[in-house]
Amino acid sequence: MILDYFHFLLNTNMMSERCSGCGICTKVYPIGNIVLEKGKAKRLCQICDFCLACVHNCPFHAIELRIDKNPDVRYRHQDITLKDIVNANQQGGK
Ligand code: SF4
Repeated sequence: MILDYFHFLLNTNMMSERCSGCGICTKVYPIGNIVLEKGKAKRLCQICDFCLACVHNCPFHAIELRIDKNPDVRYRHQDITLKDIVNANQQGGK
């Protein structure tokens, strides 16, 4: 039930027109559920670990949450780089 709520929070039409097809979300997403299709990001299914890495690392804010207090602001820990996240996801395990 709580998972249903979190899935609701992630907008199912989450890849907006702002998507440039840069592919960053496919690299920071730990479970491989986002792919590029015809130059746009697309979620394959509703499965989500709710790390929100795709939301917070999209440079164009193209991945939206239904409830977002400040949609113009995204966050990443000051000591963690985008490269750190991508490298962590390429280690082959959780
Ligand atoms: S990171 Fe954002 S702009 Fe880049 S492919 Fe993903 S949704 Fe599109």
